[in-house]
Amino acid sequence: MSERLFDPHGILEIAEDADLATIRRAFRRLAMRWHPDRNPDPDATARFREIRAAFDWLTGDADVEGGDDEGETPPEAGASDRHADIELSLVEAMLGCDKPFVIRRQRPCDVCDGEGSVALSHTRLCEVCHGSGKVRTTHSLEKCHICGGRGYVQRAACDQCAGSGEIVADRTVTVHVGAGMLPGEVLRLKGLGHESPGGGAGTLFLTIRLAADDLFELAGRDIRVRQPVSMLRLIAGGRLSIAAPLGPVLIELEPGQVEGCELRLNGKGYPGRGGSLDDAGDLVVTLEPCPPEHLDEAQRRSLAKLEEQLQRERATHFPRLDDWWQAYLASRP
Ligand SMILES: [Zn+2]
Ligand SMILES: [Zn+2]
Repeated sequence: MSERLFDPHGILEIAEDADLATIRRAFRRLAMRWHPDRNPDPDATARFREIRAAFDWLTGDADVEGGDDEGETPPEAGASDRHADIELSLVEAMLGCDKPFVIRRQRPCDVCDGEGSVALSHTRLCEVCHGSGKVRTTHSLEKCHICGGRGYVQRAACDQCAGSGEIVADRTVTVHVGAGMLPGEVLRLKGLGHESPGGGAGTLFLTIRLAADDLFELAGRDIRVRQPVSMLRLIAGGRLSIAAPLGPVLIELEPGQVEGCELRLNGKGYPGRGGSLDDAGDLVVTLEPCPPEHLDEAQRRSLAKLEEQLQRERATHFPRLDDWWQAYLASRP
Protein backbone atom coordinates (compact mmCIF):
# COMPACT_ATOMS: atom_id res chain seq x y z
CA MET A 1 0.00 0.00 0.00
CA SER A 2 2.66 2.50 1.00
CA GLU A 3 4.69 1.54 -2.05
CA ARG A 4 1.86 1.51 -4.58
CA LEU A 5 2.67 3.05 -7.93
CA PHE A 6 2.27 6.79 -7.97
CA ASP A 7 1.77 8.17 -11.48
CA PRO A 8 1.26 11.92 -11.26
CA HIS A 9 1.14 12.40 -15.06
CA GLY A 10 -1.53 9.73 -15.36
CA ILE A 11 -3.55 11.28 -12.56
CA LEU A 12 -3.47 14.68 -14.28
CA GLU A 13 -4.11 13.07 -17.69
CA ILE A 14 -1.08 14.72 -19.25
CA ALA A 15 1.99 13.59 -21.17
CA GLU A 16 5.30 12.85 -19.40
CA ASP A 17 6.90 15.91 -21.00
CA ALA A 18 4.04 18.34 -20.25
CA ASP A 19 5.26 21.86 -19.45
CA LEU A 20 4.33 23.83 -16.37
CA ALA A 21 1.47 25.70 -18.03
CA THR A 22 -0.07 22.42 -19.19
CA ILE A 23 0.30 20.88 -15.75
CA ARG A 24 -1.33 23.91 -14.19
CA ARG A 25 -4.20 23.90 -16.69
CA ALA A 26 -4.82 20.19 -16.19
CA PHE A 27 -4.76 20.63 -12.45
CA ARG A 28 -7.26 23.49 -12.48
CA ARG A 29 -9.60 21.62 -14.77
CA LEU A 30 -9.54 18.45 -12.67
CA ALA A 31 -9.60 20.28 -9.34
CA MET A 32 -12.74 22.11 -10.42
CA ARG A 33 -14.35 18.86 -11.52
CA TRP A 34 -13.46 16.85 -8.43
CA HIS A 35 -13.78 19.37 -5.66
CA PRO A 36 -16.00 17.66 -3.04
CA ASP A 37 -18.11 20.82 -2.68
CA ARG A 38 -19.06 20.62 -6.33
CA ASN A 39 -18.96 16.91 -6.97
CA PRO A 40 -21.35 14.68 -5.01
CA ASP A 41 -19.45 11.52 -5.98
CA PRO A 42 -18.38 9.77 -2.73
CA ASP A 43 -14.90 9.30 -4.24
CA ALA A 44 -14.55 13.00 -4.95
CA THR A 45 -12.53 13.83 -1.84
CA ALA A 46 -10.05 11.04 -2.50
CA ARG A 47 -9.77 11.96 -6.17
CA PHE A 48 -9.34 15.60 -5.32
CA ARG A 49 -6.51 14.90 -2.89
CA GLU A 50 -4.82 12.65 -5.39
CA ILE A 51 -5.01 15.36 -8.05
CA ARG A 52 -3.62 17.91 -5.65
CA ALA A 53 -0.79 15.57 -4.67
CA ALA A 54 0.08 14.87 -8.31
CA PHE A 55 0.17 18.58 -9.02
CA ASP A 56 2.35 19.30 -6.01
CA TRP A 57 4.67 16.47 -6.99
CA LEU A 58 5.16 17.68 -10.54
CA THR A 59 5.49 21.36 -9.72
CA GLY A 60 7.87 20.67 -6.88
CA ASP A 61 5.61 22.46 -4.44
CA ALA A 62 6.06 20.39 -1.33
CA ASP A 63 3.93 21.14 1.67
CA VAL A 64 5.16 24.69 1.63
CA GLU A 65 3.51 26.69 -1.14
CA GLY A 66 3.90 30.04 -2.74
CA GLY A 67 5.68 31.73 -5.54
CA ASP A 68 4.66 29.06 -7.96
CA ASP A 69 4.11 31.54 -10.74
CA GLU A 70 7.87 31.66 -11.19
CA GLY A 71 8.96 29.92 -14.29
CA GLU A 72 5.69 30.45 -16.11
CA THR A 73 6.29 32.08 -19.46
CA PRO A 74 4.90 35.60 -19.60
CA PRO A 75 1.71 35.81 -21.66
CA GLU A 76 2.20 36.86 -25.23
CA ALA A 77 0.63 40.06 -26.48
CA GLY A 78 -3.09 39.48 -26.69
CA ALA A 79 -3.01 36.52 -24.33
CA SER A 80 -5.06 38.48 -21.83
CA ASP A 81 -7.67 39.39 -24.44
CA ARG A 82 -11.05 37.80 -24.17
CA HIS A 83 -13.45 36.96 -27.01
CA ALA A 84 -17.19 36.44 -26.67
CA ASP A 85 -20.48 36.95 -28.50
CA ILE A 86 -23.25 39.32 -27.52
CA GLU A 87 -26.71 38.52 -28.79
CA LEU A 88 -29.16 41.28 -29.64
CA SER A 89 -32.73 41.37 -30.85
CA LEU A 90 -33.26 43.04 -34.21
CA VAL A 91 -34.76 46.12 -32.56
CA GLU A 92 -31.90 46.37 -30.04
CA ALA A 93 -29.40 46.23 -32.86
CA MET A 94 -31.25 48.80 -34.96
CA LEU A 95 -31.72 51.34 -32.18
CA GLY A 96 -28.59 50.56 -30.17
CA CYS A 97 -28.86 49.47 -26.56
CA ASP A 98 -27.20 49.13 -23.20
CA LYS A 99 -26.92 45.44 -22.54
CA PRO A 100 -25.78 43.64 -19.40
CA PHE A 101 -22.93 41.23 -20.09
CA VAL A 102 -21.52 38.76 -17.57
CA ILE A 103 -17.74 38.54 -17.63
CA ARG A 104 -16.53 35.20 -16.29
CA ARG A 105 -13.47 35.97 -14.24
CA GLN A 106 -11.17 34.37 -11.77
CA ARG A 107 -9.28 36.15 -9.06
CA PRO A 108 -6.88 35.00 -6.37
CA CYS A 109 -8.64 33.18 -3.55
CA ASP A 110 -8.93 35.35 -0.47
CA VAL A 111 -8.87 32.41 1.96
CA CYS A 112 -5.43 31.15 0.91
CA ASP A 113 -4.22 34.37 -0.73
CA GLY A 114 -4.00 32.58 -4.04
CA GLU A 115 -1.64 29.91 -2.76
CA GLY A 116 -4.09 27.04 -3.06
CA SER A 117 -3.21 25.59 0.32
CA VAL A 118 -3.71 26.51 3.94
CA ALA A 119 -1.82 25.64 7.13
CA LEU A 120 -3.37 22.80 9.12
CA SER A 121 -3.89 23.09 12.86
CA HIS A 122 -2.96 19.40 13.17
CA THR A 123 -0.51 17.56 10.96
CA ARG A 124 -2.06 15.09 8.55
CA LEU A 125 -0.81 11.82 7.07
CA CYS A 126 0.73 12.46 3.65
CA GLU A 127 -1.74 11.50 0.91
CA VAL A 128 0.97 10.47 -1.51
CA CYS A 129 3.23 8.20 0.51
CA HIS A 130 0.61 7.27 3.11
CA GLY A 131 3.05 8.01 5.88
CA SER A 132 5.95 5.95 4.59
CA GLY A 133 7.93 8.89 3.30
CA LYS A 134 8.70 6.95 0.10
CA VAL A 135 6.95 6.71 -3.24
CA ARG A 136 7.33 4.15 -5.99
CA THR A 137 7.13 5.97 -9.36
CA THR A 138 7.32 4.38 -12.79
CA HIS A 139 11.11 4.69 -12.60
CA SER A 140 12.23 4.04 -9.05
CA LEU A 141 11.53 4.22 -5.33
CA GLU A 142 11.99 7.85 -4.31
CA LYS A 143 11.80 9.92 -1.20
CA CYS A 144 8.36 11.54 -1.07
CA HIS A 145 8.94 15.19 -1.77
CA ILE A 146 5.37 16.15 -0.92
CA CYS A 147 6.11 15.63 2.76
CA GLY A 148 9.88 15.77 2.42
CA GLY A 149 10.06 12.14 3.51
CA ARG A 150 8.43 12.90 6.85
CA GLY A 151 5.23 11.00 6.09
CA TYR A 152 2.99 13.82 7.26
CA VAL A 153 2.06 17.29 5.98
CA GLN A 154 1.27 20.54 7.71
CA ARG A 155 -0.67 22.17 4.89
CA ALA A 156 -3.71 21.07 2.91
CA ALA A 157 -5.51 22.19 -0.21
CA CYS A 158 -7.70 25.20 0.35
CA ASP A 159 -11.40 24.28 0.35
CA GLN A 160 -12.58 27.67 -0.84
CA CYS A 161 -10.80 27.49 -4.18
CA ALA A 162 -10.48 23.71 -4.55
CA GLY A 163 -6.73 24.15 -4.22
CA SER A 164 -6.49 26.10 -7.45
CA GLY A 165 -5.66 29.38 -5.74
CA GLU A 166 -8.37 31.11 -7.79
CA ILE A 167 -12.07 31.64 -7.33
CA VAL A 168 -14.72 32.55 -9.89
CA ALA A 169 -15.68 36.18 -9.53
CA ASP A 170 -18.16 37.01 -12.25
CA ARG A 171 -18.66 40.62 -13.06
CA THR A 172 -21.64 42.10 -14.88
CA VAL A 173 -20.89 45.13 -17.00
CA THR A 174 -23.22 47.24 -19.08
CA VAL A 175 -22.14 47.19 -22.69
CA HIS A 176 -23.21 50.06 -24.88
CA VAL A 177 -23.95 48.91 -28.41
CA GLY A 178 -24.30 51.74 -30.90
CA ALA A 179 -27.25 51.76 -33.31
CA GLY A 180 -26.87 50.02 -36.63
CA MET A 181 -24.03 47.62 -35.84
CA LEU A 182 -24.24 44.60 -38.12
CA PRO A 183 -23.96 40.96 -37.05
CA GLY A 184 -20.32 39.90 -37.10
CA GLU A 185 -19.05 43.37 -36.23
CA VAL A 186 -16.91 43.51 -33.13
CA LEU A 187 -16.97 45.78 -30.09
CA ARG A 188 -13.63 46.36 -28.32
CA LEU A 189 -13.83 46.98 -24.60
CA LYS A 190 -10.44 47.85 -23.21
CA GLY A 191 -9.63 46.70 -19.72
CA LEU A 192 -12.38 44.07 -19.61
CA GLY A 193 -10.27 41.14 -20.80
CA HIS A 194 -8.37 38.77 -18.55
CA GLU A 195 -6.25 40.25 -15.81
CA SER A 196 -2.65 40.14 -16.89
CA PRO A 197 0.04 39.10 -14.39
CA GLY A 198 1.81 42.44 -14.86
CA GLY A 199 -1.33 44.30 -13.75
CA GLY A 200 -4.11 45.75 -15.82
CA ALA A 201 -6.33 43.70 -18.07
CA GLY A 202 -6.62 42.86 -21.72
CA THR A 203 -9.35 43.77 -24.15
CA LEU A 204 -12.77 42.17 -24.37
CA PHE A 205 -13.81 41.61 -27.98
CA LEU A 206 -17.57 41.18 -28.33
CA THR A 207 -18.93 39.92 -31.63
CA ILE A 208 -22.45 41.10 -32.40
CA ARG A 209 -24.95 38.30 -33.03
CA LEU A 210 -28.60 38.71 -33.94
CA ALA A 211 -31.22 36.52 -32.30
CA ALA A 212 -33.34 34.76 -34.91
CA ASP A 213 -36.43 36.82 -35.68
CA ASP A 214 -39.75 35.17 -36.51
CA LEU A 215 -40.76 37.76 -39.08
CA PHE A 216 -37.83 39.76 -40.32
CA GLU A 217 -34.75 38.67 -42.17
CA LEU A 218 -31.66 40.80 -42.54
CA ALA A 219 -29.92 40.83 -45.94
CA GLY A 220 -27.05 43.28 -45.82
CA ARG A 221 -28.84 46.35 -44.52
CA ASP A 222 -32.10 45.44 -46.25
CA ILE A 223 -34.79 43.86 -44.13
CA ARG A 224 -37.13 41.35 -45.75
CA VAL A 225 -40.59 40.45 -44.55
CA ARG A 226 -43.56 38.57 -46.00
CA GLN A 227 -46.86 40.17 -45.09
CA PRO A 228 -50.35 38.82 -45.79
CA VAL A 229 -52.76 41.42 -47.15
CA SER A 230 -56.43 41.38 -48.13
CA MET A 231 -56.90 40.52 -51.79
CA LEU A 232 -59.60 43.20 -51.95
CA ARG A 233 -57.18 45.81 -50.61
CA LEU A 234 -54.65 44.79 -53.24
CA ILE A 235 -57.28 45.28 -55.95
CA ALA A 236 -58.77 48.48 -54.54
CA GLY A 237 -55.49 50.08 -53.45
CA GLY A 238 -55.42 52.78 -50.80
CA ARG A 239 -53.77 53.09 -47.44
CA LEU A 240 -52.01 50.05 -46.16
CA SER A 241 -50.14 49.46 -42.95
CA ILE A 242 -46.77 47.83 -43.57
CA ALA A 243 -45.12 45.95 -40.71
CA ALA A 244 -41.65 47.37 -40.11
CA PRO A 245 -39.43 46.19 -37.23
CA LEU A 246 -39.75 49.47 -35.32
CA GLY A 247 -43.50 49.82 -35.88
CA PRO A 248 -46.04 49.99 -38.72
CA VAL A 249 -45.47 52.30 -41.66
CA LEU A 250 -48.45 53.65 -43.61
CA ILE A 251 -48.18 53.60 -47.37
CA GLU A 252 -50.44 54.42 -50.28
CA LEU A 253 -50.91 51.26 -52.28
CA GLU A 254 -51.39 51.50 -56.04
CA PRO A 255 -54.71 49.91 -57.03
CA GLY A 256 -54.97 46.96 -59.37
CA GLN A 257 -52.55 44.47 -57.75
CA VAL A 258 -53.86 40.96 -57.80
CA GLU A 259 -51.00 38.51 -57.79
CA GLY A 260 -49.31 39.93 -54.78
CA CYS A 261 -46.18 41.93 -55.19
CA GLU A 262 -42.90 43.04 -53.72
CA LEU A 263 -42.67 46.55 -52.34
CA ARG A 264 -39.38 48.25 -51.59
CA LEU A 265 -39.58 51.00 -48.99
CA ASN A 266 -36.40 52.99 -49.43
CA GLY A 267 -34.51 53.76 -46.25
CA LYS A 268 -36.96 51.90 -44.02
CA GLY A 269 -34.60 48.96 -43.46
CA TYR A 270 -31.62 48.55 -41.14
CA PRO A 271 -30.00 51.86 -40.21
CA GLY A 272 -26.44 52.75 -41.12
CA ARG A 273 -23.61 52.95 -38.61
CA GLY A 274 -24.46 55.09 -35.62
CA GLY A 275 -28.14 54.87 -36.59
CA SER A 276 -27.63 56.98 -39.71
CA LEU A 277 -30.79 57.06 -41.82
CA ASP A 278 -28.85 58.21 -44.89
CA ASP A 279 -27.13 54.82 -45.11
CA ALA A 280 -30.16 52.81 -44.07
CA GLY A 281 -31.16 49.81 -46.14
CA ASP A 282 -34.59 49.17 -47.58
CA LEU A 283 -37.57 47.35 -46.19
CA VAL A 284 -38.53 44.77 -48.79
CA VAL A 285 -42.09 43.55 -48.29
CA THR A 286 -43.60 40.66 -50.17
CA LEU A 287 -47.37 41.09 -50.08
CA GLU A 288 -49.27 37.84 -50.06
CA PRO A 289 -52.91 38.12 -51.13
CA CYS A 290 -55.55 36.62 -48.84
CA PRO A 291 -59.11 36.09 -50.10
CA PRO A 292 -61.85 37.01 -47.64
CA GLU A 293 -63.33 34.08 -45.77
CA HIS A 294 -66.60 33.34 -43.91
CA LEU A 295 -68.65 36.06 -45.68
CA ASP A 296 -72.15 36.52 -44.34
CA GLU A 297 -75.12 36.78 -46.70
CA ALA A 298 -75.11 40.57 -46.94
CA GLN A 299 -71.38 40.67 -47.66
CA ARG A 300 -71.71 37.94 -50.26
CA ARG A 301 -74.59 39.84 -51.91
CA SER A 302 -72.65 43.09 -52.12
CA LEU A 303 -69.69 41.30 -53.72
CA ALA A 304 -72.06 39.58 -56.15
CA LYS A 305 -73.61 42.93 -57.00
CA LEU A 306 -70.21 44.43 -57.70
CA GLU A 307 -69.31 41.43 -59.78
CA GLU A 308 -72.49 41.86 -61.91
CA GLN A 309 -71.72 45.53 -62.41
CA LEU A 310 -68.20 44.75 -63.59
CA GLN A 311 -69.38 41.96 -65.90
CA ARG A 312 -71.63 44.42 -67.71
CA GLU A 313 -68.45 46.03 -69.00
CA ARG A 314 -66.50 42.82 -69.28
CA ALA A 315 -64.15 43.98 -72.03
CA THR A 316 -62.98 46.82 -69.80
CA HIS A 317 -62.85 45.16 -66.42
CA PHE A 318 -61.95 41.61 -67.36
CA PRO A 319 -60.14 41.85 -70.73
CA ARG A 320 -58.50 38.46 -70.42
CA LEU A 321 -61.74 36.77 -69.58
CA ASP A 322 -63.49 38.65 -72.45
CA ASP A 323 -60.81 37.61 -74.98
CA TRP A 324 -61.19 34.02 -73.92
CA TRP A 325 -64.95 34.02 -74.49
CA GLN A 326 -64.57 35.82 -77.85
CA ALA A 327 -62.14 33.13 -78.97
CA TYR A 328 -64.42 30.39 -77.74
CA LEU A 329 -67.48 31.76 -79.49
CA ALA A 330 -65.55 32.40 -82.73
CA SER A 331 -64.41 28.79 -82.80
CA ARG A 332 -67.98 27.46 -82.58
CA PRO A 333 -69.80 26.66 -85.87
ZN1 LIG B 1 -7.96 29.14 -1.66
ZN1 LIG C 1 4.77 11.80 1.61
